[in-house]
Amino acid sequence: MPRRFPTPLTLLCLTFGFAAIGALPTISFGQEAEVVSPAPSPEPAKPADEKASEESASEKPIEPIPNESATNEPMPSDPAPAESENEVADENVVDMPAEPESAEPKKLPKLGVATGPLLPGQKWRVHDIRRPRPVTVTPGELSTYDKPGTAPGDAIVLFDGTDLSQWCHVDREDPSQLTEAQWNVEAGSFEVTSGKGNLQTIDSFGSCQLHIEWQAPAEVRGDSQGRGNSGVFFMDAFEVQVLDSYNNRTYADGQAGALYGQYSPMVNASRKPGEWQIYDIIFEAPKFSLEGELEEPALITVMHNGIFLHHARKYYGPTGGGVIPKYNPLSPAGPIRLQEHGNPVRFRNIWIRPVNQPAE
Ligand code: MG
Repeated sequence: MPRRFPTPLTLLCLTFGFAAIGALPTISFGQEAEVVSPAPSPEPAKPADEKASEESASEKPIEPIPNESATNEPMPSDPAPAESENEVADENVVDMPAEPESAEPKKLPKLGVATGPLLPGQKWRVHDIRRPRPVTVTPGELSTYDKPGTAPGDAIVLFDGTDLSQWCHVDREDPSQLTEAQWNVEAGSFEVTSGKGNLQTIDSFGSCQLHIEWQAPAEVRGDSQGRGNSGVFFMDAFEVQVLDSYNNRTYADGQAGALYGQYSPMVNASRKPGEWQIYDIIFEAPKFSLEGELEEPALITVMHNGIFLHHARKYYGPTGGGVIPKYNPLSPAGPIRLQEHGNPVRFRNIWIRPVNQPAE
């Protein structure tokens, strides 16, 4: 039989066969295979500023914060207090579907630092993580012409369109006695009623934010100070003038928004008579020493229909007529008073937020 040489196909199979065998791991029979751990992943590189922050944090010890209440506040990383079983045992509670597990861990937002520079005159550092955050206040709804707005969640509502239960009169014969409010309430607002006297709050207020809406009579009668005249008094003493100042000439320190007899408003922001107008006012009560000496005069900031008229303006003293007023020691709080000046001015949507201390 003739001897055959390997064909080219046979040579090709042999070549690939040996190559495949060489690529297999070397395993000796009767010997366990060596377990090879995967190489550890290199740590992800940190941004340069994060490294610097860590370095500075390790180098600079954190100064203690003197305010215990601030340091006792739960930190963002603190777990929320667990609810008891009774609190969640409600048949209306529906199990929420479990969130699908994410392949990558969630990245938390950066809430602050503890190593920023110390703010001058403060005990807090820039972006201080320990600084108490402001409480949340739900804003009210804004007014429209037809519908008065609503008060913020933390405000004291002085008039919401229904009654004058927060208001009273001072008895003319015996000023120590308060009598029931007698101005007319109608269709969500109330009107200055001639002959009934000034109206004032039953409660007293010092520093505060006041929102009040007013309307001069649509039918124009009189002129100058005899047209749509009323007034908002803080602490029963410091007036912001209410007047129909739409095309109505009068002395400048007596027109709408004036600190009557002391400062004229920066501009005339009046609407037409018969239209609702808004005062947003921030009032700071005067401060006196224990000996009764004036330390800080009364300050006021007034916005009229969204336009500012005064910013931190100082009263010379309680409002008077044709005089340079002076301060005498006052109680730290007094009623908000609305003036009866013989004109049927209307008011609605009145609320107040007492300000006891500045924000930190
Ligand atoms: Mg007045």
